[in-house]
Amino acid sequence: MAKKFIKYWHKMDEKEKQKILKNVFCSNCFVTEIVDYTIGEENCGLVLKGKCKTCGKDVARVVEGVRK
Ligand SMILES: [Zn+2]
Repeated sequence: MAKKFIKYWHKMDEKEKQKILKNVFCSNCFVTEIVDYTIGEENCGLVLKGKCKTCGKDVARVVEGVRK
């Protein structure tokens, strides 16, 4: 479960979150905004998985510096 990460994400500064959400790589649009995202857990840490705001393609963003 990614409970710890979900908690971390909700406690995170809103400005910081927006910066992350609007700086997601999409193979179609290059830099895009992630929408309809969920918080997941990978070996590398917290990962946001969602869709590209522009084209709807699945995108993911690792949030660095968050460890288990
Ligand atoms: Zn896109």
